[in-house]
Amino acid sequence: MPDRNDTTVQERLQKRLRFYDDLGLGPFYRDRGASGMRASSLFVETSVPASVVIEEYTLPKTARTLPASGMDAAKSVAVEVAAKTLVLPAAGGASLFEATTKIAGDTLLKVREDLGECTRCKLHKTRNKIVFGDGSGKAKLVFVGEGPGADEDKQGLPFVGRAGKLLTQMIEAMGLQRGDVYICNVVKCRPPENRQPEKDEVAACSPFLFRQLDVLQPKAIVCLGSTAAQTLLQTNRGISQFRGQWLDFRGHKLMATYHPAYLLRNPAAKGEVWKDLQKVMAELGLEVKRNKGK
Ligand code: URA
Repeated sequence: MPDRNDTTVQERLQKRLRFYDDLGLGPFYRDRGASGMRASSLFVETSVPASVVIEEYTLPKTARTLPASGMDAAKSVAVEVAAKTLVLPAAGGASLFEATTKIAGDTLLKVREDLGECTRCKLHKTRNKIVFGDGSGKAKLVFVGEGPGADEDKQGLPFVGRAGKLLTQMIEAMGLQRGDVYICNVVKCRPPENRQPEKDEVAACSPFLFRQLDVLQPKAIVCLGSTAAQTLLQTNRGISQFRGQWLDFRGHKLMATYHPAYLLRNPAAKGEVWKDLQKVMAELGLEVKRNKGK
């Protein structure tokens, strides 16, 4: 039986992990805490509502400062990232990964066929539908999320729940339609309880994401949240350390920004995301309007 002190420590740890999650250090987010949050009909909110209180904690220097109990391996990794100082490949620089594993003559159809009724990881046991991806095969812009939630699992389509509706608004605010872009995820099957995908699941599924991106050859990739960004950039660094900067993925420009599910809980961060998307618009030659949504 855990004693009361253990429980209190665990509660405090969980609260702290949630905060790290909000910073992009580990998105254990969908559904949690979203209820009761006012869903803005406008995508952009530049001012911070008076009711939003942002708590500040000191980031741990290493994962070892936290006891292992109550944290699974993935969460430990998410906390550990705060101490890492890997250099990320900047856009325009030489890519470490470019062209090394590209499959000649690959198509989205072949990738989907190779994925098949996948049983490569344990997520297949609880999934309803595989969520491969959706949108234009000619898209110049690809959004990459973490993994399907409940609505996506039911429909077999990415970003169709609450976070998806916000993503659609974001896309439309950019002057595009969902059909103009391509939307997919790091893992193609829903993690139970919308937990963060585990390392082995990401390892099993991400080659299909890499192939999708190799086929699409987009002008820009937007990573929604830390799982997508960390997977494509092969880093453990927290997203808040590189969000909003142009980086390189196999010769493609990559912009990491906050996940729409995070924005549902933290509407005050929409302004930051809008700034990131404006950089993407400029890159794609889309008209960047000042004070959009005001
Ligand atoms: N969140 C994701 O990361 N992907 C989806 O498809 C839906 C919600």
